[in-house]
Amino acid sequence: MIELDEARSAVLDHAAPLPATKAALESALGCVLAMPVCTTLDLPSFDNSAVDGFGVQVDDVAGASEGSPIRLELTGTVRAGEDVSGVALSKGKALKIMTGAPVPADVEAVIMREYCREEGEFVHIQRPAKPGENIRRKGEEFQHGQQVLDAGTRVTPAVVGMLATVGLTEVEVHRKPRVAVLVTGDELVKPGTALQPGQIYESNSFALAAILREMGIDDVQLLHLRDERAVITEGIRESLDDSDILITVGGVSVGDFDYVKQAMADLGVEQIFWKINMKPGKPNFVGVYRKESGADTLVFGLPGNPVSAQVSFHHLVKPAILKMIGVANVDRQGLLAELATDIQHKPGRREFLRGVLETKQGRPVVRPVSGQGSHMQGGLAKANCLIDVPPDCPGFKQGDQVFVELLTWR
Ligand code: AMP
Ligand code: MG
Repeated sequence: MIELDEARSAVLDHAAPLPATKAALESALGCVLAMPVCTTLDLPSFDNSAVDGFGVQVDDVAGASEGSPIRLELTGTVRAGEDVSGVALSKGKALKIMTGAPVPADVEAVIMREYCREEGEFVHIQRPAKPGENIRRKGEEFQHGQQVLDAGTRVTPAVVGMLATVGLTEVEVHRKPRVAVLVTGDELVKPGTALQPGQIYESNSFALAAILREMGIDDVQLLHLRDERAVITEGIRESLDDSDILITVGGVSVGDFDYVKQAMADLGVEQIFWKINMKPGKPNFVGVYRKESGADTLVFGLPGNPVSAQVSFHHLVKPAILKMIGVANVDRQGLLAELATDIQHKPGRREFLRGVLETKQGRPVVRPVSGQGSHMQGGLAKANCLIDVPPDCPGFKQGDQVFVELLTWR
């Protein structure tokens, strides 16, 4: 039996960023850039107006004020998207210009519409202008050839926007892992079928598939295997070669029909560890299957209790997936929060209580939910975090600061 921190680093030692592949902009969200991105454009790519206003030459409006505005003749209007290569502004005149419209070469400043009063063919300017005022200059943010995004950047909505801004339709990202999820158990039937005595509805494949969907993992194989050694061995064998991560659920403890560990051994999956000193999620198996291609399959045998399965996924599988897709920092994401109630704890095992974290009067406050059994999904369904109770801790008092990990999947 090992401690969770040790287990996590052992898992991460066996996970590596996957090779680069091209992703269309529409499907790159959540991926990690495998290469830096450079722009072939200047940004902005031409001088353009930051405001709706009037383009002027600075000398023409010197001394203008609200009390004594300067009247200039209007020579035209420039709309966004227009070609202004043939547009000129002569001395003593003004051009109406819209936000984002190109600024013709001899316009020295754009005065906001709010400081101008239009009257027929004329505009009354009520303030002086500084050279370059309200003009977004060509190349002021980036010049063509310059790097705009680093390798290792997580593709957020803002990054998608940046990629589109430089005109890209696809981008080099780390490939996502192909994942197989094999649930085991003779008692399990699909929702939608009538339950016979002794049967329960199979829920882990649904929950884990949903987690994988939230993580942006789309290549997922789901399989239900009966508790028979040959069936389990064959099921795992068939999925090993075509997956980067293989997850079995259930059948990994010490019951008479828990065949997962035997099957792993029969198939040559090298055990990295079995059993973690934590609750929920003690009977966790992690191993590695060495393929001829040299690309190993990371194998997780998660416990079957639904809460244990999801919490174990959070602790072990999630960081492995994040590392494989190229995320550099896969440290636990959490914070200190004030405990709203006392917590009892029997020293010995590290425990993760399901909790609700809220901000109250600007401070993070957490309370454990009711229903902490590892078979009780109601508690997990209410929770948004895990409260980390160290192994030797005799419990906490209301008002104590505790570390909470956010139950998020990205
Ligand atoms: P096991 O780890 O196979 O001993 O299962 C532990 C508990 O979790 C048992 O009560 C199982 O019935 C339950 N369980 C296992 N797999 C699933 C599943 N896929 N969906 C719902 N409950 C499950
Ligand atoms: Mg079972």
